[in-house]
Amino acid sequence: MIDAHIHLDQYEDKVLAGLEDQGIEGLIAVSMNLASSKRTRELAAGYPGLVKPAYGFHPEQPLPAEEELDALLEWITVHAENMAAVGEIGLPYYARAEAAARGEAWNQEPYLRLLDRLLGLAARLDKPVVLHAVYDDAWTVCDLLEQHRITRAHFHWFKGPEAAIERMIRQGYYISFTPDILYEPEIQDLARRYPPELVMAETDGPWPFEGPFEGRPTHPAMVHDVAAAWAALHGYTLADAKAKLTANTVRFYGL
Ligand SMILES: [Zn+2]
Repeated sequence: MIDAHIHLDQYEDKVLAGLEDQGIEGLIAVSMNLASSKRTRELAAGYPGLVKPAYGFHPEQPLPAEEELDALLEWITVHAENMAAVGEIGLPYYARAEAAARGEAWNQEPYLRLLDRLLGLAARLDKPVVLHAVYDDAWTVCDLLEQHRITRAHFHWFKGPEAAIERMIRQGYYISFTPDILYEPEIQDLARRYPPELVMAETDGPWPFEGPFEGRPTHPAMVHDVAAAWAALHGYTLADAKAKLTANTVRFYGL
């Protein structure tokens, strides 16, 4: 299988060792910013074929200075040839919610401008995008994708309102499920409803999970557990579910 979304540069241990013995044949390794993109590129160069890099700027962190963003866009343009996608990019749903909980004002404008520039880059380079866009932000991001005429969009670890789900399905956007599909009813409902041909499996590692994964370091092989849970929800055999999820990831990322 392929782990369709992992922060490989945040692992310190040898998570890449023996992956093939554990049935993992590929990783979509996303990046947080320029330093993270450089590290991801090194990992991809060390494990060609196994690690497929994506470069971008994650929205859930302080905004980059203008020069920093210019440098990132320039670096991505230079290194686009072996890049699987632009990502992780999107809108800061959680940072905004935390600011609201603290009673602080929030200005969304600069985050929208940042995403607009990153989507413009993806459109120019003709690459897919890896999106962090959940709940109310999904609708806004759909607007931006359509403005940029981007059709290859992967909303990773998606959760959101019904109207956004319907719009995303109409546009043929992909989503992916993490190990929380084993224990989150909201995610299980989405998994029953979203077209199986638009679904991938991911870990978002090293993000930690609960339920049966409590206390365990997140590992790419957990996509097998994701496949088993998804198979049960649809009545597929495990082998069939794994084959479908892998084929979807290969098709989406052009691997
Ligand atoms: Zn992520």
